[in-house]
Amino acid sequence: MIKKIEIIFRGYFIIQKSLILTCINCEKKFEFTSIEYKCPECEGLLWFDINLEKFKQQFAQIKINNTFWDYNFALPPINKDFIISLGEGGTPCRSSKRLSEKFQLNKLFFKDETRNPTNSFKDRVAALLVSHARSWNFEKMVCSSNGNQGASIAAYSSLEGIKCLNIIPGEIDVGKKAQMIAYNSEIKIVGDTVDDAIDFILKNKDFENYYQSTPELNPLTLEAQKTIAYEIINQIDTPNSVIIPMGSGELLVSLWKGFIELKEINLIENIPKLIGVQSQSSSPIVNAFFKEFDHKIEKIDNEKSIALGILVKKPLYKELAIKCIKESEGTVIAVPEKLILGSIEKLIRNEGIFAEPSSALTLAAVNLLDQKQMFDPKDNVVCLITGSGLKAPYVLEAISSQTKTTGKGSIIITKLKILSQISLSSITGITGTEIKATLGTISLAAIYQHLKDLETKGLISRKKEGKNVLYFITNSGKKVLDALDVLITLL
Ligand SMILES: [Zn+2]
Repeated sequence: MIKKIEIIFRGYFIIQKSLILTCINCEKKFEFTSIEYKCPECEGLLWFDINLEKFKQQFAQIKINNTFWDYNFALPPINKDFIISLGEGGTPCRSSKRLSEKFQLNKLFFKDETRNPTNSFKDRVAALLVSHARSWNFEKMVCSSNGNQGASIAAYSSLEGIKCLNIIPGEIDVGKKAQMIAYNSEIKIVGDTVDDAIDFILKNKDFENYYQSTPELNPLTLEAQKTIAYEIINQIDTPNSVIIPMGSGELLVSLWKGFIELKEINLIENIPKLIGVQSQSSSPIVNAFFKEFDHKIEKIDNEKSIALGILVKKPLYKELAIKCIKESEGTVIAVPEKLILGSIEKLIRNEGIFAEPSSALTLAAVNLLDQKQMFDPKDNVVCLITGSGLKAPYVLEAISSQTKTTGKGSIIITKLKILSQISLSSITGITGTEIKATLGTISLAAIYQHLKDLETKGLISRKKEGKNVLYFITNSGKKVLDALDVLITLL
């Protein structure tokens, strides 16, 4: 574990396979030759410490090309020959067009990570981890995630011809699973939630020859994700609050690490308040936070959450995330499940961002915190939009079912066309078959159904003549058509 190994890879010069990580608990440093996440002595979580002197110098000289690799100098060292990219990072942090006016805020920003190559923030992680795996001469990746990281790792592995195995839970957005399969990843389904899939990886020795790319089990994940904090500072300066979805809590810790590094080199004066968001249906970090402060825990819904991207029962970074939130003077909030879909629609229609449920939670959180008057009118707030709603079938079904409203419109138009035809034959009357001849493709059965509806509403009447049934317009029907004529002249 401690010994350095020298290897030759693809004809490149000799590289050293080692990584120095620090225990966040006992603060001891260890040199590893495999990916580890727990301190060998006290089992505290490990992370990568940067050299602040060099970081300060290099941050001052940074040239922004709007890519993740702009911040290469702040990441664990990887020889540039091994770096791979699909154009990740450098995502926009846009000021809200309409929604900030609704809240007591100076400005509301959306850091739009849906703009990454596979439509989530995890492309930053995949770019770093697959580059690192390449530099360590791994030929196989294993990943257990709620979907976004697995899809990204699959994409970047595919780019490099590296085999990828995704161990996924049964409860996963099918769009993310489809991305993994499309990028040629092998899939194994274990348990219901990601906790089961991670347990499976930890207990199974078959993965020793795989590069470990499970977000919770690879400390480089934090390093990749902290670049979001750097970008926010370079794009809009220091916001007052950043609202972050929490699954295992590692994303919030990543942003905290990014901000604290910038504070330590005096690039920012204060760390923004970090506000962690979960769904009320699955909120272990929020519950633990309130329990610690002896606050009353809000009632938890018993329904299933649609925010599958952050569905974690036992968050590995729970304690650390709570510590970061407290140090930043932030807070947590659990959003009722019923508010998620509405927030997705608000983001689409007002801001043009199609977010997945776990991302839209951040907007719902702004709304709830605004109602509780938790913001100052001078505040600038950033919502982190982590991934695309196109990956979540529940969202697609819910939104596409609304096209039935348009369908209802077309039904009304068909009814009016029928009414209009009957009006043209107000003296002689008209049969259903004759109406069909004027309307074309609509079936006779459908026409009779419309005629029945119109008759029930008193807009037409019928009279039997021999074998035929003739339809006539009533005075009420004429009034509807007259009203429609007035409406058309107004449009
Ligand atoms: Zn330790």
